[in-house]
Amino acid sequence: MHFTNQGSLNNLSQEIAYKNFKKDIPSVSTITRVADTMNLEEIRNIGMEIYAKARKPKMLSDCYGMWVGVVDGHEQITSLYCKCPYCKSRTVTKKGGIKETQYYHEFTAFILAGPKISFILDIEPILPKEGEISSSYRLIERVCKNYPKAFSVVIGDGLYLKETVFNLLEKHHKHAIAVLKEERRQLFEEANKLSLLVEPKTYKQKKTYYRVWDHSISGCWDGYGKKVRVIVSEEATPKRVHSKDGKSFEEKLDKANWMWVTNLPCPKTEDLVDLKNTVRICHSRWQIENQCFNETVNTWNADHIYRHSANAIIVFLLLLFTCVNIFNIFRIRNIKDKSIKTKIYLIELIKAGFHTTRNPLPPIPI
Ligand SMILES: [Zn+2]
Repeated sequence: MHFTNQGSLNNLSQEIAYKNFKKDIPSVSTITRVADTMNLEEIRNIGMEIYAKARKPKMLSDCYGMWVGVVDGHEQITSLYCKCPYCKSRTVTKKGGIKETQYYHEFTAFILAGPKISFILDIEPILPKEGEISSSYRLIERVCKNYPKAFSVVIGDGLYLKETVFNLLEKHHKHAIAVLKEERRQLFEEANKLSLLVEPKTYKQKKTYYRVWDHSISGCWDGYGKKVRVIVSEEATPKRVHSKDGKSFEEKLDKANWMWVTNLPCPKTEDLVDLKNTVRICHSRWQIENQCFNETVNTWNADHIYRHSANAIIVFLLLLFTCVNIFNIFRIRNIKDKSIKTKIYLIELIKAGFHTTRNPLPPIPI
């Protein structure tokens, strides 16, 4: 169902009826019932096997010289009805002051960032009355245990700038990178002070101009107590945009300021290559937003709830991510048919193949 992008159990049941698959495929009600009690560890083991098979023959590549993990939280659905004991809830005030209770599910995800594709390693639900960080501790612990050599550094957004996160990763011999955006933090102030005193390194990459500072700061993060690097990157990209009258174009400068805190060791040389790669690695955090969340929602219907129970939601997501991982690895290998140029076309081709073949498809080779 996931691999052929059916998008819902209803579509699957129609395919089953249309193709006379009743003997070969369990019914939709059996699938949902089984999903309620399916063992998550067994599905995670399949993910580990696929990872091992893909990593050895170099189907996965490192990210600018490092193996990089990215962790982040995602909200899955909102609904006006509470359907299971694990629903989280919040009250929102709509226009006109009408109060409404929304129910939703959240999970944290851990991916391996890569130059071409990202590989989704695992997910963990965020339970009611707990925050993203509590769920991510369980996730990081499990990913470090299941994939001990898969990555050497982990990136998170501003939420992950916590000594507990840095220490947990250090315990597993991993480095950490977190976005620094809280202006009240002493680290933020200190980095800004230093940036006024020191000249930045400047370079151009593709169309973007970079001004980057790499500060080594100690004594400004009480809880952690160790020296950290604060990387500051001012980025400007010229862009051609429509002018206000809509008749001509004008040049505009897209500016972005980034700050990251990391315990990665300082580069041994003054080499710019190392700094450039570090900035690129820091930016690879966007992959979890784009390739893991947005793309799986828009293309693979990841926000759809196939069966509303705490276990089934994770079952369907883990199975979906298994399919997405296999699909992505397949797509970036040398596909002989040169007419397959885009991802959407390949998805449609698989979908059409499933719909038109009267006989069951052969197993997917991996
Ligand atoms: Zn629920």
